[in-house]
Amino acid sequence: MRDKIVAGNWKMNNTLEEGITLASEIVNMVADELTDDVKMIMCTPYIHLNAVSKIIGGAEKVSLGSQNCNDNLKGAYTGEISVGMLKSVGVEYVILGHSERREYFGESNDFLAKKVNTVLEAGLNPIFCCGETLDIREKGAHYEFVTNQLTESLFHLSADDFKKLVIAYEPIWAIGTGVTASKEQAQEMHEKLRAHIAGKYGTEVAEGISILYGGSCNPKNASDLFAQKDIDGGLIGGASLKSRDFVDIGKSY
Ligand code: PEP
Repeated sequence: MRDKIVAGNWKMNNTLEEGITLASEIVNMVADELTDDVKMIMCTPYIHLNAVSKIIGGAEKVSLGSQNCNDNLKGAYTGEISVGMLKSVGVEYVILGHSERREYFGESNDFLAKKVNTVLEAGLNPIFCCGETLDIREKGAHYEFVTNQLTESLFHLSADDFKKLVIAYEPIWAIGTGVTASKEQAQEMHEKLRAHIAGKYGTEVAEGISILYGGSCNPKNASDLFAQKDIDGGLIGGASLKSRDFVDIGKSY
């Protein structure tokens, strides 16, 4: 059985006070309402991590994630945050390769391979994002493009390290647009990704990896998406900023 995961990416939203309120609401609602075995992850801005970690405390179904990290373990990198610092405040997951970081900060597949190594070296779990633009999909090159993102950033890993990953398929045309991939489009890509992983690491590894869908996922469309055979949960942007919506997505299984 693969882990069912719903991860919220808060992006650059919320003051510390607002973040504390949101995290407290989520932790309480999850404790009261979430009966299924779903892992809820809050990926907050850096400055919220320590406070949110304390709010999570020993909560069973909630974990802490970061949205980024530096690719080096430590040193003279003014303004940056290391994996060791993240680990020291209770972070377990780090989002890597989000399309916004690829686009606005020029993060390439090669550079992400280095970040993946750094995160794993610290004993943390990458949530590795991949996904195509609308233009690439319209040209029919989306499978090749997305599988290549995995090959170039991840396929240098040993099978044991690969098993520590979570993959998030996020078509760029669906992120923050209100346009969700259909359940058929998402399932098709997830199936291709799992087959691609099986080709490199074998069926057992591929069948054990959680592949999340991201892109305008909300409480209304989540259950249809999550019912697909190869979709193991979601990476949620906008809807993760509302405690009710985020927890309802977690309850969509
Ligand atoms: C995201 O940015 O990872 C995301 C999925 O955003 P949204 O849910 O807002 O489309």
